[in-house]
Amino acid sequence: MTVANRTNYHSHCSFCDGKAPIGDFVAEAVRRGFTSYGVSSHAPLPFSAPWTLDRERVGEYLAEIARLQDLYAGRIELYAGMEIDYLDETWNPASPYFQQLPLDYRIGSVHLLRAPDGSIVDIDTAEEPFARNLEAHFGGDLRHLVEAYFDKLIRMVETGGFDFVGHADKMSYNASFCEKGLRERTWFRDKLRAYFERIAACGRMVEINTKKYGSCGVFFPHRDLFGWLRELRIPVTVNSDAHRPERIDEGRSEALAALYDAGIRTVAELRAGRWTEVPIDRP
Ligand SMILES: [Zn+2]
Ligand SMILES: [Zn+2]
Repeated sequence: MTVANRTNYHSHCSFCDGKAPIGDFVAEAVRRGFTSYGVSSHAPLPFSAPWTLDRERVGEYLAEIARLQDLYAGRIELYAGMEIDYLDETWNPASPYFQQLPLDYRIGSVHLLRAPDGSIVDIDTAEEPFARNLEAHFGGDLRHLVEAYFDKLIRMVETGGFDFVGHADKMSYNASFCEKGLRERTWFRDKLRAYFERIAACGRMVEINTKKYGSCGVFFPHRDLFGWLRELRIPVTVNSDAHRPERIDEGRSEALAALYDAGIRTVAELRAGRWTEVPIDRP
């Protein structure tokens, strides 16, 4: 059995909306022979949300990761990260608050959009609530919603302050639920292409997020975009976005195989604290 590319840098825990303590995820990673592992709770927002780490508990979160780093020293490289929302110009991964935290890496993600009616809408939901929110807050205008999402991600990419883009096109999945064939529409492809070109021009890395591979057979970004990643020379890292310890390895080998099939030969891994391009060990 290969032990190469056995890493994950997108992982939640009971400090946010994960379903187990950090120690359970790390123990599982060690058991499965992972060489490095990153914990990335949803970062605090300027308002309380049930799925984020409380700002008052950030010190406790970092202390628990430090304790586990000592406990597992020599067995796994354990890293402290956060998945930080790009909320607006004042609250995002580049904000001084997040930059001064002693984190090993930062994920930049968009889960929330401000609707024309002023409300902040979570678009990172299951398909049915997404469709309801589209009607209730965006007047059913799917194109407006999709373009607002990618425009926000483009602002995040341009602003920086993070190590890689989290689940780069995740909304495509929900949006396709509302309109079959959406991903083949010319305006949609053009928007997506402009976004990926900005990612490349700004020198950002993206993750291949395997969270929905087990249930839906999809990666974020979608595997039919892997050719763009190769062509635009965008670095990639493979992550499971696990909320349960038993799912830390889900879809990892399938994502690596799909990357390899798309002509991509390396993935980024943290080694001694630095992102390092490591060959994909195709079985
Ligand atoms: Zn996320
Ligand atoms: Zn996540």
